[in-house]
Amino acid sequence: MFTLPPLPYNFNALEPFISARIMELHYTKHHQTYLDKFNTAIKDTEWESKSVEEILRDLDKIPENIRTVVRNNAGGYHNHILFWENLSPKKQAPSENMKIQLAQNFGTFEQFQKDFNEAATTVFGSGWAWLVKNIEGKLQIIKTPNQDSPLTLHLSPVLGLDVWEHALSLIHI
Ligand code: MN
Repeated sequence: MFTLPPLPYNFNALEPFISARIMELHYTKHHQTYLDKFNTAIKDTEWESKSVEEILRDLDKIPENIRTVVRNNAGGYHNHILFWENLSPKKQAPSENMKIQLAQNFGTFEQFQKDFNEAATTVFGSGWAWLVKNIEGKLQIIKTPNQDSPLTLHLSPVLGLDVWEHALSLIHI
């Protein structure tokens, strides 16, 4: 059984950007529901003993009758774990190493911020904007629809922004 990791801060910690009510709803209802549906879908299958990362990477090996429900709910479960970890009540600057890598890949750090915000604000409907690393170690910005995970595209998520009506906020880094 997969479980919900504790939120690393209080529900009101991100105010005024995200209200306590929305944080509570997003974590205790939306995230919990992805988790419950994911656990139910893989119950008594060999996938119960795999990691969620393995499941998302090997989505094409999941039996067809549960593939869509696993795609949406393992994706939603894992994406939101990353999202809570990415957000912080304290404004923090990226590490010097990260700044260098962002500048190498996007020209300047400011250009990365611009490109990331542009990606996030042009997600159509529900989805995510991501900073990812490809297998060659190059950083890229991508968008995924609904709860699709970058892992399924064999990309490693570095930073994810949930773009949905309950989650939408500008990125402050
Ligand atoms: Mn969400």
